[in-house]
Amino acid sequence: MLTTVVGSFPFKLKTPNSFSDKLKHVFGTYDPYKLAIKDIVTDELNAGIDIVCDGGVRENMNMINIFSRHMQGMKIEDGTTVIKSKILPSYKDITVDDVNTAKRVLDDYLVKNENNLTEDEISNKGVKAVVTGPSTMIYASRIESFYKNKDDAIFDYAHAFNSELKAIEEKTEAKYIQVDEPIWSTGVADMSVASEAIDILIDGIDLPIAIHACGDISEIYKVLANLNVDILDLEFAGNSNNFKIFKNNISKFKGKKIGFGCLNSAVDRVDDKYSTGDLISKAIEIIGKDNLLLDPDCGLGKLSHENAFKKLQLMCNLKNEFNS
Ligand SMILES: [Zn+2]
Repeated sequence: MLTTVVGSFPFKLKTPNSFSDKLKHVFGTYDPYKLAIKDIVTDELNAGIDIVCDGGVRENMNMINIFSRHMQGMKIEDGTTVIKSKILPSYKDITVDDVNTAKRVLDDYLVKNENNLTEDEISNKGVKAVVTGPSTMIYASRIESFYKNKDDAIFDYAHAFNSELKAIEEKTEAKYIQVDEPIWSTGVADMSVASEAIDILIDGIDLPIAIHACGDISEIYKVLANLNVDILDLEFAGNSNNFKIFKNNISKFKGKKIGFGCLNSAVDRVDDKYSTGDLISKAIEIIGKDNLLLDPDCGLGKLSHENAFKKLQLMCNLKNEFNS
């Protein structure tokens, strides 16, 4: 049983302090987001997380604009992504540098803690890449021209963004790629289009793929169970109905690992140790430790830094108790 995060984490952008940072600032190469990524990954590791990620900090944690800013055919106007013409791949890699920054922080941590960690603990640690899925991307954007309907834009985005997944696979050491689709559970997305778009998006990718779908799964669990992906990442702490559905349909989910949201990311206080432990033990009972990745329900970026850190720490401590 491993632990991971879903994505965002509280951070503060720093002004340049050191001489080299000030010099970079003068030449316009100072990147405060890179420092934020280092802080976030360090926090994740110090809390005990196994699979860390960069926190999706750019564009002030806007999961749409981080990607749309670079895609051909998409523009950001007054903070909203607008589709102007046919969606085509970005000219440059979007997340590769940030995933590699996270990996360097992890490597440094492993060197420093070589003597405190077992071989298993070291080999379990890794980074993942987190990207926004085609349906969520298009439903959060405004179509201004070229597309008559959202479905065509979703398919084109999936084709175009496939090259970003290929870049992640070739140029980073990510253990897997997580695709976020929060729109799915809202009822507005056409789920047959949504799942076909995932097939297009991950075509030719060998890395394991996770789908993060937060919210209520009662209308989408059948589609989730049939997706051609390795990991389903769902929320269970803030949504007791999801656990009932999951348990009653457990045979449908066979063969998939479960990212098991066991911390309520909607409340800014540390979860109760006993009820979180109880939820994890119920998950172990029906899924088994080997198929479980513990994580929060969703990103923790809107919470206070203290509570976000303590939540992760609580989850990692519980994982250690269950694993021992
Ligand atoms: Zn989420």
